[in-house]
Amino acid sequence: IKAVSEEIMELTEHYGAHNYHPLPIVVSEAQGVWVKDPEGNQYMDMLSAYSAVNQGHRHPKIIAALKEQADKVTLTSRAFHNELLGPWTKRVAELTGKDKVLPMNTGVEAVETAIKAARRWAYEVKGVADNKAEIIAAKGNFHGRTLNAISLSNDPDATKDYGPFVPNIKKVEYGDGDAIAAAITPNTAAVIVEPIQGEAGIIIPPEGYLKAIREVCKENNVLFIADEVQTGFARTGKMFACEWEDVVPDIYVMGKALGGGVFPVSAIAANKEIMDVFTPGSHGSTFGGNPLACAVSLAALHVIEEEDLAKRSLELGEYFENALNRIDNPEIKAVRARGLFIGVEFHHPVRKYCEELKEEGVLCKETHENTIRFAPPLVIKQEELDWAIEKINKVLSK
Ligand code: PLP
Repeated sequence: IKAVSEEIMELTEHYGAHNYHPLPIVVSEAQGVWVKDPEGNQYMDMLSAYSAVNQGHRHPKIIAALKEQADKVTLTSRAFHNELLGPWTKRVAELTGKDKVLPMNTGVEAVETAIKAARRWAYEVKGVADNKAEIIAAKGNFHGRTLNAISLSNDPDATKDYGPFVPNIKKVEYGDGDAIAAAITPNTAAVIVEPIQGEAGIIIPPEGYLKAIREVCKENNVLFIADEVQTGFARTGKMFACEWEDVVPDIYVMGKALGGGVFPVSAIAANKEIMDVFTPGSHGSTFGGNPLACAVSLAALHVIEEEDLAKRSLELGEYFENALNRIDNPEIKAVRARGLFIGVEFHHPVRKYCEELKEEGVLCKETHENTIRFAPPLVIKQEELDWAIEKINKVLSK
């Protein structure tokens, strides 16, 4: 007799497009850092849905907010006002220190929004000639899957056979502030970077990189867009990863944990000079800013602050990093960590480790071929982390 999981996976593979290569596990229940398959086996989630579940699976306060709002109203569209969009935009504006917030749903939509804002700003505020605006991106980036986002990418897997791409994009080496300075022209609208590159394998730029971008953008009247979709909301041990260099970008791009792993919520935050380029009809989304999303997001932000998840990430991240550094395996090339945002890079592909870790009850995923990403929910307890470290030691020491 086939196990339920096997049947589910076959069905998914049969009818679903093959645009992912998941580990062979079905998650049917989850709470905090733990998930279960339909057979009742328990695993620790060390991926957190690519950092969307920083608050832990089904955080009681977030679920309560979801249920309460579901009993009132879920969607109004932006044709009408809803009660929660005001309080939510205020909350996100205060959190980012920006004047204004524009809500979307997925991370890539927020990226699109930021690029559109930057282009309009370039034409209407900076005075760039029509259709000449340029964007600078960093190689190795991941900004999502739309044509605009993959136009920023230099990853062949993400871009092959999708051309023609959005023009006027320059791609420079990540971590090199001088390369950005050299790529700027009078037509440059914005520089977009991840403060730490997540999908690239937790690539932490050299100290001073973000500061250098901040300065060169200011000097040249260019917008600095920080894509904090994966690094934001306490993941790296700070509310935003830009804080590691005390840098404030012109536009914050946010997603994932902004919705607490419960609902897709994304946004950009920026000051008036930038956000006022949007006028009625020039941009939007049917679901963006819906009351259910706002209720969930308010609770998600409350949990991050109330439980001081940034501090927890910082402390446990350091502890985890030290433990990983003690693993004696010459195949390990590097351990890179900022808070509980950790990459262990090997000299060879790591898929087999992820499969073995799954057998031990630890769920994680390779990013690119050679790096294992460890990013547990930030509500993880020391004992739980110790449990995982023991399993990880066992598998990675081989
Ligand atoms: N930007 C960054 C830095 C990301 O890591 C991701 C997703 O992994 C995205 C954008 C896209 O987010 P979404 O998948 O919600 O569209």
